[in-house]
Order: sequence, then structure tokens, then C-alpha cells
Amino acid sequence: MTQMRFSNQTAIVTGAGEGIGYAVARQFCAEGANVLLNDILAGRAREAADAIAAETGASCLAIPGDVADVDTVRGFVDEAIAGFGKLDICVCNAGLTSWGDFFDYQPADFERVVNVNLRGSYFLAQAAARQFRTQGGGGRIVLMSSVTGHQAVPYLSAYGMTKAALEMMARNLVLELSPHGITINCVAPGAVVTPRNLNDDPDYEKTWAELTPLRQAIKPEDIANAALFLASSASARITGQTIVVDAGWSATSPIPDMEYGKEYQNLSHSHVE
Ligand code: NAD
Repeated sequence: MTQMRFSNQTAIVTGAGEGIGYAVARQFCAEGANVLLNDILAGRAREAADAIAAETGASCLAIPGDVADVDTVRGFVDEAIAGFGKLDICVCNAGLTSWGDFFDYQPADFERVVNVNLRGSYFLAQAAARQFRTQGGGGRIVLMSSVTGHQAVPYLSAYGMTKAALEMMARNLVLELSPHGITINCVAPGAVVTPRNLNDDPDYEKTWAELTPLRQAIKPEDIANAALFLASSASARITGQTIVVDAGWSATSPIPDMEYGKEYQNLSHSHVE
């Protein structure tokens, strides 16, 4: 069999039952990796792992669990070792999009988005890095950021903060991980055509295509391409960086008309005038 880009490598991908994570897990398997596919929904994780294994012929194991729980994410690394003997790549993809007007935003919502997006990524990256160090070094960590960590989008303040923090996490950890040959980078997607977004807005693809300079919506496969590049030998000397995949959106950052919170948009508009 021809050697594929990720032959004999083992990758964890969180939040991969559908959407971006699913595309990342599927692409890893298609390129020869063994994948541990996590989702908070156990049934969805199993179905996704089975579908990918059937399609690609690769090993794809479901690892259900909530990434906000530290013991759970540490267990993902144990399962990688039990299943495949080593870990090479960790993609901390699971994230919660939490909309909310700043004036009414609740502590419980804040804690949940911070726990999923930050604690989940931080402690899984830590568990992976400890394993990479034990294996003698090397290893790749990819964090899933967002263009909302760079550009202001109404009603996404807490979410945007977590994404900006993930990018600083990658930059900071360059210092502690580089001596072990471990790289850590982020992908920052723009608006991606995922089942969740299509559920919220059936015209999501058209709406966002019109707002990007390239006049194209982002597909989960576009994000997978960037994540796999950051996990591959082609990016061996890239660390602490973020690849923005947004069809040029963040050059100007227009947003569509949003029903949500319209009264506040009008209010701020009248202040400007
Ligand atoms: P999504 O909301 O569609 O969720 C994907 C999967 O993650 C789901 O099957 C869900 O059950 C699972 N999940 C949710 N919470 C989890 C948890 N606590 N633990 C484990 N699994 C969990 O996700 P998506 O839209 O594909 O986004 C993936 C990542 O990309 C997230 O970090 C998100 O913030 C980021 N992102 C997405 C977009 C976008 O437009 N979709 C844009 C920028 C950034």
C-alpha cells in the first residue's frame, strides 16, 4: 500500500460528530491516520466513527464525553494509547457558540462557554503534550479558534474572548512546547456551512457567500485542509500561529442583518448619529 500523509499516526479530534470536526476526522482517516473521534453525544460519536471507518477503511474509534471535564479529556489520551500505542496529533476542535446581549449575559452561560472552549482545549492540550513528552518529543496540537477572536461580532463577546484566548495560548506555549519538538497552532474559521448553521439559517451559504470578498462560503473541508496542514510535516517549523480561513471576510468583516437583538443595534446606531 502506498504511504499516505498520516500513515501510522494517531489523532484525537474533539467535537467531531458533525460539522468541522467531522470533516477533520474524516480527512485524517482518508489520509491514513487512526482517529479517536470525540463528541458529547455518545450516539452521534459512534455513528460518525462508524461512517468514517466504513468510508475510508481506517480505524476510527468513538470516544464520547464532554471536553469541559478535565478527567474526561485526560481519558481520551489514555484511550489513544490503549488503542494505538501512541499519540501524534491532537485537534482541540469542540467549541460552544454562545450568543448573548452583554447587558443580560448570565454567569452560567459565561462559565459554560469558558469551560468548553478554554478549559476543554487547555487541559486536553496539556494531556496530549505530557504524552508527547513521554514518547520522547514531537507531536502536533491544533486549536480551533474563530475570526470572532479577531473581529467584533455583535452578541458574541464571551465567545470571541475565548477564541482570542486560544490564540494567545498557542503563542504562549511555544516557549514550553518547542523544547520538546511539539508545535501548537490555531485555525480561525470564518462562517462555515455546517449542519448547525444551516439549521439556524437555511440560506446560510448564500448569505455568507455574498459577504466574503471571494464570494464563497467556507466549507468544513476548507478548515480540515488547514488543520491537516498544521498537523503535517509540511508545517514542521510553524508554531504559535493562526491560519485564518474565511474567504477574505475579515479584511472588511461585514455582518448580515440579524433578527436577534435588533433593538440594541438600532439603539447604538442612534447614538452614532
Ligand atoms: P458544532 O456546534 O456543529 O458542534 C460539532 C459537534 O461538537 C457536535 O456534534 C456537538 O455535539 C459536539 N460538541 C458540542 N459541545 C461539546 C463538548 N462540550 N464536548 C464534546 N463535543 C461537543 O461545531 P462546529 O460549528 O463544527 O465548530 C467546530 C469548532 O469550530 C468550534 O470550536 C467552533 O467554535 C469553531 N468555529 C465554527 C465556526 C462555524 O461557522 N461553524 C466558525 C468559527 C469557528
